[in-house]
Amino acid sequence: MCCYIAEKTGVDVIMARNQGNLYLCPTPIGNLEDITFRVIRTLKEVDLIAAEDTRRTRKLLSYYDIHNNITSYNEHNHRAKSGYILNLLEEGNNIAVVSDAGTPGISDPGEELVKEVAARNIRINPLPGPNAALSALIVSGLSARSFVFEGFLPSARKDKKKKLQNLAAENKTLIFYESPYRLRDTLTEIYRCLGNRKIVIARELTKKFEEILRNNVLDTINFYIEHEPKGEYTIIVEGKNDETQVLTEEQEGMSVAEHVDELISQGIHRKEAIKKVSRLRGIPKREVYNKVLSMKNK
Ligand code: SAM
Repeated sequence: MCCYIAEKTGVDVIMARNQGNLYLCPTPIGNLEDITFRVIRTLKEVDLIAAEDTRRTRKLLSYYDIHNNITSYNEHNHRAKSGYILNLLEEGNNIAVVSDAGTPGISDPGEELVKEVAARNIRINPLPGPNAALSALIVSGLSARSFVFEGFLPSARKDKKKKLQNLAAENKTLIFYESPYRLRDTLTEIYRCLGNRKIVIARELTKKFEEILRNNVLDTINFYIEHEPKGEYTIIVEGKNDETQVLTEEQEGMSVAEHVDELISQGIHRKEAIKKVSRLRGIPKREVYNKVLSMKNK
């Protein structure tokens, strides 16, 4: 089927055992042109396409004039369906896996299938292509040198908080997927657990309403108080550095001026204390200064 050396070597093995191949085929996360020639050819040539969302995949296939067999493989039926797919592969059929969008196996049921296919020593071919996490990371302007991909945070607040607290000391850039319905809650929890760090919200990447919001966490929270979250979001958060600080519960209860006073009483110079409070609370330094002055004048 394919013509590069590694696969030719693999084909000999596969032919001897008469097994098929599994092809992990990334598909566009928005713009339909984001697909490789190899993925298109593979989708034409395999015996079956296992798609997370058959309706969405049919649209893609019709855009590229591909006529092939599709079966659904998603979070609801993956346990029941994997046996069927494994049997077909063992009988010598080639199968492509396509997720809802992006790279199969990254925060979608493709991961489970790959585990089972790998356990049977059936050949798996990873085809490179679109992925929301990496697209958001490279456009973020935050460090892409080392990063931690977390996918979706738990939806229960307690578990989300615990997860974020465990990530608070992480120096690497953090990447999260999030639904528009949970975005505001997640941003609040990020502020509480990680502090007022730099954050980038990548929305609707490669689509008509693509939007990249680069800000600190508090300004981002304020933005989404005024704007209803809509569409698909990937969140990139700066890793912990020397400047990262989180408001303690006690500080949360203090006024801005009281907070500055508290830092001064710890031996921090007034100018530095104002700078710290400004960063921690996401308020301009001038505003902190004015609040301190007006308290002194009372
Ligand atoms: N396997 C996919 C990949 O490789 O990107 C990710 C699947 S995961 C179930 C879907 C999540 O990815 C969405 O909820 C959203 O957080 C993120 N996502 C997908 N498309 C996106 C886009 N166009 N812009 C921003 N984030 C996106």
